[in-house]
Formats: sequence, structure tokens, C-alpha cells
Amino acid sequence: MNVFFKANSPGMLPRSEYTDIPENVLIVEDDPTYSQLLKRLLLQAFGNIQLDCCKSAQEALTLAKRKTYQVLLVDYNLPDQSGYELLIELHRSATKFPPPAVMLTADGGAEAARKALQANAYDFMTKADVNTNSLERAIINALQKHALQKAVYQHAQDLETTNASLKKRNREISDFYQTVSHEVKTPLAASREFISLIRDGVLGPISYEQAEVLDYALSSCDQIASHFNDLVETTRLDSRKINLKKQETSINTILKRTTASCTRAIDEKRARLVISNTCESCRINVDENRIVQVLSNLVSNAIKYSPEESSVTLAVRSTDPSLVVFCVADNGFGIAPEHTEDIFNRLYQVGGTSSEHTGAGLGLGLSIAKDLVELHSGRIWVESHPGVGSQFYVELPK
Ligand code: ADP
Repeated sequence: MNVFFKANSPGMLPRSEYTDIPENVLIVEDDPTYSQLLKRLLLQAFGNIQLDCCKSAQEALTLAKRKTYQVLLVDYNLPDQSGYELLIELHRSATKFPPPAVMLTADGGAEAARKALQANAYDFMTKADVNTNSLERAIINALQKHALQKAVYQHAQDLETTNASLKKRNREISDFYQTVSHEVKTPLAASREFISLIRDGVLGPISYEQAEVLDYALSSCDQIASHFNDLVETTRLDSRKINLKKQETSINTILKRTTASCTRAIDEKRARLVISNTCESCRINVDENRIVQVLSNLVSNAIKYSPEESSVTLAVRSTDPSLVVFCVADNGFGIAPEHTEDIFNRLYQVGGTSSEHTGAGLGLGLSIAKDLVELHSGRIWVESHPGVGSQFYVELPK
């Protein structure tokens, strides 16, 4: 394509700094007189460019296969096919981006214009309106639009490539977490067992101080295991590798299992967990393990972000017959309003990792809880006041 500087001429399209001049144009027109006229106008508008002419759609298809044209001027009514069908055919057979086409009709009409644009014509002109200026303007517009579309297409291709490589990278990270987690968790569990044996005096009597130190060691093992679980869970959720195993279950079972899984957290901070269930007979269709996981996370957080010997409530109600709402309430440190949405994002911790209220977590628990609740088509949210406490709600369809 030639690119050269050209001054604006009166009555013509306002030019940007430069104008693209087509090197060649294919005229598809069965009327030889009109074809001659188009040739003359094009030579006037663009100087000595290369012009090929043909009279039918079939000839145009053959020529377009042999040679790359920069612009096509296509008559809407051709003897073998309509210009509209020709453009569709060209698009279908083009390996990359087909050249821009300007469609010409004898009588115009909204239907022909609509069809022309549907077939990806870049412009549409009535033959009576064709003159040097209008033709030049139409062709330059078509070239500019085509260049823009090509750039957009190229960006889209680049984004797709980047996206594919990010997905691949994500899979690699996910696999890495799974492998590391597996490699760490097995020896970790063994170490925990050995420490436990010593702590329980199975291998001989130990002093009170030794027991205390071993308790710390045990809780550190649990923390490491829990971090790995969170990381693996997050990558599995990201890669949609979690399938819910839904079954009908009673609210009571869920509450009992949640309480059991929080026993250690409750004991460690000498907290109290109060259960309030106003729908004893309710049953819901959920993945029981996952909902217990969500509620345990909320209860552990409530204990973690409250002073020692606090009271935490786990309540259930069902005011709407199709919904069950769990509420975990504490009288702990609370959360400022500007954080109440962000805490459900990955790795978000109020005040960052150095916060005095930050526990030993990674900031993944609530984002995992949110994903799991949403997988159940439910909702999770918090209402909180700093210094007063928080209520986390989980609403699930029955
Ligand atoms: P983690 O507890 O591992 O930091 P979470 O995703 O469970 O991560 O929680 C994100 C953040 O939300 C926590 O770091 C904490 O700042 C805040 N948060 C969660 N639950 C409570 C709560 N009950 N009271 C006060 N702050 C909370």
C-alpha cells in the first residue's frame, strides 16, 4: 500500500496526516460502460493505480483467489449472483481478513443497504451519486475502517494468545500447589502423629512445660495444613475442579458437624458457641461437607477476631419457605464499612497482613466460602460495626 502526504481538497473527507491510496482495485460490474466510468473516476481520484475488472461473481472469486486486492467495488446486481452473496462467499473463503468492499446499486433502497452491510460491505452507494469525490471518500473510508478492524482483530488475537498462556500458567500453578501440598501434607501428618504420641505420654511421662511446647508444635502443624488446604482449595475453585455432591440433609446435622469441627478453636480461646435453631425440622439440598466447611470458617473467624472468652452465636432461620439463612454473630473487633465487601476477595485482610487483628490466616477463607456459597446459588454477606461485632449471613435455597 502506498502511503503519502496529500493536502485536503475542498469538499473532501477531512484528512488525517496521511492518506492511504489503494495499490489496486477490483471492479465487479457487468455493465461495461459503467465499469469504464468507474475506472476513469478511480484514476482521477487516485492517479495511476492498478485496476482489474470482471463481470460476474464467479470471475471475481477466481481473481480474488489469485491476487490480493486492497479494495473491491461490487455491483449489487450481478448476472450469476447478487453482490451481497459474493461478499458472503468472499468472507467464507478468506483465510485471513478479506479486503474491504464498497457496494454499488442502481436504485439504492434500504433493503439493499441493510443486506450490503450485513455482508460486511464497508460502504454502500447509489450509482447516481457516484463521482470522483464520493468514490474517493468511500474508498478511503473503507480503507481506514478496514485498517481499524484489522488492528482490533489483531488485538483480539493477541488477547486470546495471552489468555491461553495465562490459563496454561494458572494450570501449572494449580498443579504445583497440588503436588507441593501432597508432598508436604503426608510428612506433616506423620510429624503431627509423632508429636501427639509424645504429648499424650504414650512414649513416657513428660513435664507440664514440655506438654505446653508440644501443644504449640501441634497447633503449628495444624496451621500449616490449613494454609495448604486453603491454597489448594482456591486453585481448585479457580479451575472449576470442584463438583458439589448435593444431597438432602437436616439443618441439625450441619449444626452438629460445624460445632464439632470448631471445638479446638473454641477451647483454645475459651470461647462459647451458642446455637439457635428456629427450623428444627428443616432439610436442605446441599453438599453437606462444603456447607459445614463454610460455617466452620465463619465460626472460627468469629472466635479468631474476638477477645478471649467471647460468645459466638450460630443461628438458623427460614422465614421464606424456599430459603434457609445461617447467621454467625460475634461481639468482636468488627469490620469498618469500607472493608465489608473486599474481605470476600482473595488474599484480602483488613489492615493488611500486619494488622493487630489479623490471625494466622492467608486471607483466603472468606473468598473460598463465597465461591462455595455461590456454587450453591446462595449469597453471603456481612453486617458489622467496628468495636461492636459482626454478623455473617449465608442464605441458601432449600
Ligand atoms: P483470614 O482470616 O485467613 O485472614 P478470611 O478470608 O477468613 O482470611 O478473612 C478476611 C479478613 O476479614 C480477615 O483477615 C479479617 O480482617 C476479616 N474478618 C473475617 N471475619 C471477621 C470477623 N468475624 N470479625 C472481624 N473481622 C473479620
